[in-house]
Amino acid sequence: MSSKTKRFTITAALPYTNGPVHIGHLSGVYVPADIYSRFQRIQGNDVAFVCGSDEHGVPITLKAKKEGITPQQVVDKYHAIIKKSFEDFGITFDNYSRTSAKIHHDTASEFFKKLYEDGKFIEEVTEQLYDEEANQFLADRFVVGTCPKCGNEESYGDQCENCGTSHNATDLINPKSAISGNVPTLKETKHWFLPLDQYEPWLKEWILEGHEKDWKGNVYGQCKSWINDGLRPRAVTRDLDWGIPVPVEGAEGKVLYVWFDAPIGYISATKEWAEREGKDWEPYWKDQDTKMLHFIGKDNIVFHCIIFPSMLKAEGSYILPDNVPANEFLNLEGNKISTSKNWAVWLHEYLEEFPNQQDVLRYVLTANAPESKDNDFTWSDFQARNNNELVAIFGNFINRVVVLTNKYYDGIVPSPSNLSEVDEATLAELKLYPSVIENSIERYRFREAQANLMKVARLGNKYLADEEPWKTVKTDEERTKTVMYVSLQIASALAVLSEPFLPFTTDKLRNILNYSTLENAPQWNEVSTKETLLPAGHTIGKAELLFSKIEDKQITAQLEKLEQSKKANEAANRVVDAQKDTCTFDDFTKLDMRVGTIIEASTMTKTKKLMKLKVDTGIDVRTIVSGIAESFTAEEVVGKKVTVLVNLAPRALRGVDSEGMILMTETPEGKLVFVNPDEDGVSNGMTIN
Ligand SMILES: [Zn+2]
Repeated sequence: MSSKTKRFTITAALPYTNGPVHIGHLSGVYVPADIYSRFQRIQGNDVAFVCGSDEHGVPITLKAKKEGITPQQVVDKYHAIIKKSFEDFGITFDNYSRTSAKIHHDTASEFFKKLYEDGKFIEEVTEQLYDEEANQFLADRFVVGTCPKCGNEESYGDQCENCGTSHNATDLINPKSAISGNVPTLKETKHWFLPLDQYEPWLKEWILEGHEKDWKGNVYGQCKSWINDGLRPRAVTRDLDWGIPVPVEGAEGKVLYVWFDAPIGYISATKEWAEREGKDWEPYWKDQDTKMLHFIGKDNIVFHCIIFPSMLKAEGSYILPDNVPANEFLNLEGNKISTSKNWAVWLHEYLEEFPNQQDVLRYVLTANAPESKDNDFTWSDFQARNNNELVAIFGNFINRVVVLTNKYYDGIVPSPSNLSEVDEATLAELKLYPSVIENSIERYRFREAQANLMKVARLGNKYLADEEPWKTVKTDEERTKTVMYVSLQIASALAVLSEPFLPFTTDKLRNILNYSTLENAPQWNEVSTKETLLPAGHTIGKAELLFSKIEDKQITAQLEKLEQSKKANEAANRVVDAQKDTCTFDDFTKLDMRVGTIIEASTMTKTKKLMKLKVDTGIDVRTIVSGIAESFTAEEVVGKKVTVLVNLAPRALRGVDSEGMILMTETPEGKLVFVNPDEDGVSNGMTIN
């Protein structure tokens, strides 16, 4: 490394491999991490940007059980899908690894052994929850119960998704096994604990005193609340058969807790990359000059700010993160994104429906990133940002510049004459943006950074609209050349400054501007320092649309898809009544059910629910009072064939004697439906048996 080069180790949360990745992941973690990594590489810095699939832990074994396949099959399937989604969206990991890789098993094992040998763990036999029927200890997601902190009745054994609290399974109130539904018993088992309480004074000093100013408010606040609540020893092993075996004697049938092994995955991913590149991995994790950053979502703050740093501190030879710029959550159309409820925009599906429009999603997710609070992704905002910003400003400016240059000068950049005051001011403003954008990126304010990039496009668009070269071309050749020259400098600046945010567009734009034939294509800082970014005499290529309009029907289709998910969820969550006690055949034959026809219907006073019906039962015409008035009008039901229980004891309803009952069922939305023998050839009085 030269003296000016800085070394960065940038990690992005390991996606959990029990499903594909969606826009929430991209927005919260991977796009900001990618913008940051791309930016540091552009600056000539030495970057290791690593990630990988998190393939251990209970949810994967639960999913495998449910689908009747092995955990390895589950992770193989989703690892492939996730890896491809990241590649497709231009996330520039230097290495995307996986925690089932041998290098990771070895690395995590060694890490545990070192801490074990140095006496950093407490070894303790404790009582843990046990499912007698499944013959299994219940940790983490194997157990569901009431959160001791917020009262959420569906908290998991390791973490409450409602309040974010991380706890031990035995802390849950009214625990139930997720495997059998049984109430667990307590059984003794030996585990190794990391005594987090011993790290409290150090964490106070390192985070509460050391990072009050430079860590994001949401991150610092969570850490503070954690530390002030008091930390307790955390078990780092589990009774489970899926994971990394605990590498000490007497630990048969136990594996490392997934949250112990997963963050070590960042180290293994770096090692794997270094081996491949012929580099030394250690400086990236052990040199004090390295700046280490963890990009994560808010649900992972405790693991990345408290537990993993305590592990690194216990090991002794590692550096600590410089910052953990965690984001809040992105919601979708007002509801929490949910994998199990299929309330999400899946990246692989997005690409099928919006081919080659990765940058549009990257742009919208950054413009709307949940940097300081939860935010909402809506399809109408997606459409508006594409059509009104990317198409109407960025795309429109570039298109006009390229089309006019081709039209007036055969694609050759013209020489400028005297610059006007407006030209000077415009070029001077342009020079400010590299450092303005850099400043936002270095403070992890990616929304602000991208908004500043758009200001460059707005600057160009306004300049062109004000100077109107399509008018001056008829009257003032020299002025037109100057205006086109200035416009081309702005277009060229966009081709440089867009790179961290809109990588696919950047490639297209550089191609249009023929960057490959430029002897000295401008670099980031040169946008500020260089007199000329695109020299007179350089030939650019033909116009090509950078963005295209998104039509209403595309948005409607997406909203309909979500509506389908909602309906499917409602159907799946419908509570089905339990079967009643058995009745004998004799009991059943006591019921006399006949086919009948409603021949008259009238509403009743003082009741919204009841309707008075005259029914031809084939035996007689009788009055039946039925609770259908909220689901049907009187006109709708006259003439309907229905099923009638005719020997139900008569009873008075609102003063009217009702002689029988019409059989009905009810939809989840509460609408009544006739159980209906409404078929040709079925006549009144026929017996149903
Ligand atoms: Zn809770």
